Amino acid sequence: MQKLDSIAEKVKLCEKCKLCETRTNAVPGKGRFDANVIFVGEAPGRNEDIHGEPFVGAAGKRLDMILEDTGIKREEVYITNIVKCRPPNNRIPSKKEEDACIDFINQEIEIINPKIICVMGNTAYGTLLGGKEITKNHGKIVEKDGKKFFVTFHPAATIYNQELVGELKNDFKKLAEFLEEDDQPKQYEDRRCDFCMAKTKHEIVVVPKIVTKKRKWLYKCTQCNHERWLVPYRTVAESLY
Ligand code: URA
Ligand code: SF4
Repeated sequence: MQKLDSIAEKVKLCEKCKLCETRTNAVPGKGRFDANVIFVGEAPGRNEDIHGEPFVGAAGKRLDMILEDTGIKREEVYITNIVKCRPPNNRIPSKKEEDACIDFINQEIEIINPKIICVMGNTAYGTLLGGKEITKNHGKIVEKDGKKFFVTFHPAATIYNQELVGELKNDFKKLAEFLEEDDQPKQYEDRRCDFCMAKTKHEIVVVPKIVTKKRKWLYKCTQCNHERWLVPYRTVAESLY
């Protein structure tokens, strides 16, 4: 929504590292603001640089194929990269470039607040989790700072190594199972935010275990992310009494 749009605008104008000098287009993340999963790759490649969209080239085709195979719909998720501009000749981004770009992905994660973040490949694994050996740790859920991460290969790795297709599909099946298991759609209520003053959708973050008419729920404004405990409107709450 608005907050993600404003990050995308900042990415497009960003000159925080040297990759801005060689890019055709910066490539902001793309997808739903209320996605329950964020997929994180490494950096845009040639096609992404031309079109300004993530995962639209060969790696994107692989990702699409595996998503389709596991019943996860691309239009329901959010897809992004660790760095938003293409490194020349698709080299691995440097630590300096990652550090310059890291605020963007942290903000994307903060705003979307997904159930899980799917870390694809060594760059994302190293940057977000400090991990090294993806071959040993793929297919696992890792928790860090109160967030859940799912670790898997980069879809492009399957282009060079056909054996990984099966492994990646298996991993994605596990991810799809996790998403289904925990398939409580997020709930929203229209309210005026007493912080940014806008009338916006408020995500219901916490519903107390025992619901009574007076007990407060935790709401988050989807515009400014301000959280506070409020008595819910009856229409949403009464189904639970
Ligand atoms: N590889 C990535 O890591 N990201 C893209 O967007 C495309 C290819
Ligand atoms: Fe900015 Fe990231 Fe692009 Fe570097 S890679 S110019 S930090 S958007």
